[in-house]
Amino acid sequence: MSVTTARITAVDTYDIRFPTSRELDGSDAMNPDPDYSAAYVVLRTSAGGHEGHGFSFTIGRGNDVQVAAIDALRPHILGRPVSDLCDDPGSLYRDLIGDSQLRWLGPEKGVMHMAIGAVVNAVWDLAAKREGKPLWQLLADAEPEWLVSQVDFRYIADALTPGEALELLRTGKQGAPERAAELLRRGYPAYTTSPGWLGYSDEKLTRLAKQAVADGFTQIKLKVGADLEDDIRRCRAAREAVGPDIRMAIDANQRWNVGEAIEWTNALAEFDPYWIEEPTSPDDILGHATVRRGVSPVKVATGEHVQNRIVFKQLLQAEAIDILQLDSARVAGVNENLAILLLAAKFGVPVCPHAGGVGLCELVQHLSMFDYVALTGTTENRVIEFVDHLHQHFLDPVVISAGHYRAPIEPGFSAAMHQAAIDTFTYPDGAFWVADRAEGDQG
Ligand SMILES: [Mg+2]
Repeated sequence: MSVTTARITAVDTYDIRFPTSRELDGSDAMNPDPDYSAAYVVLRTSAGGHEGHGFSFTIGRGNDVQVAAIDALRPHILGRPVSDLCDDPGSLYRDLIGDSQLRWLGPEKGVMHMAIGAVVNAVWDLAAKREGKPLWQLLADAEPEWLVSQVDFRYIADALTPGEALELLRTGKQGAPERAAELLRRGYPAYTTSPGWLGYSDEKLTRLAKQAVADGFTQIKLKVGADLEDDIRRCRAAREAVGPDIRMAIDANQRWNVGEAIEWTNALAEFDPYWIEEPTSPDDILGHATVRRGVSPVKVATGEHVQNRIVFKQLLQAEAIDILQLDSARVAGVNENLAILLLAAKFGVPVCPHAGGVGLCELVQHLSMFDYVALTGTTENRVIEFVDHLHQHFLDPVVISAGHYRAPIEPGFSAAMHQAAIDTFTYPDGAFWVADRAEGDQG
């Protein structure tokens, strides 16, 4: 029998970079010139079986470091039976975070942890393809006991016990079939950041903000934090463009000290911002709590750079955030994000995931949709970020209609990129970058 057991036969990695900085797409107060990039991994299996795709998101330089971190995990994965991995992705997750030498590079944070996230997510992609279900549905259909077995409760059991998680999931399952049908009919609410990049002109901001409302979005987001006079002018223009009934979030991308965050946010309060995102360092739990007290009723949101479930636990325990913005590719993949969704559910804090970049919308929609169908059972005050960049490079791109993410129906985690995109944008030897250098040499 062992000769017919499908195994992981290759772990192929790619350094893929898109030249998004040329249009100032994605520009904010801390990241003025991002080249959206993916440290991309493909798990290949024997006997022509499915492939598992995953990636870490970076913004350019350093994507090679991220790829090297994924490469360092290869010995843990090669040769493993596919059925073992897919029946219990948590076993691989625990092996990877437990590697006694690699763990020194974290523990459970930073480049190594993001690499683990890429690989773990690739396994979930593979598992969902084998089941013939989109990932959100695989998770929603799973037995609560099995989901609990996929979570590492170490360091969070003081805030959430396995028994409490089981209870949340059992309750969440009640009415799940009706909510799945509703999800397929209506989709999941989205908001858009496309109008508000810091490098855009006021004219472009106004035009895109009006377009967002016309497209059915009920919330937009603006980047702030570089210059207060500019922020006042831009917030005024955006508020005039969308009217009083559209939620307008603002995002400082960690630009401020705690006191500055409070002053600056209050200086923009007349434009009725819904939340202030990343007001200060993502590691500053007590700082966020101070900001939250200082800017109320403006809500405080963070999470795209929160490195693991332990920091999220503390943000919740300290009542430091109103909105939890988990990211599909920052932490150690679906397993750790299950822990984070359960923590948020226990504390009653809505999850509005971070997305955008490259492929983050494709991934994270599955987590919110699972949360709606089989955990919290609600989309009230919950929206997934949407940014309209780079979706054309994916086999199963997100579909937005009337301000909602349509539920994916293709099996998998929506992570796979077209081979042509991989070939074109691989750095530095893909066709785009070769041509770009040749042009630079001539110019
Ligand atoms: Mg942000």
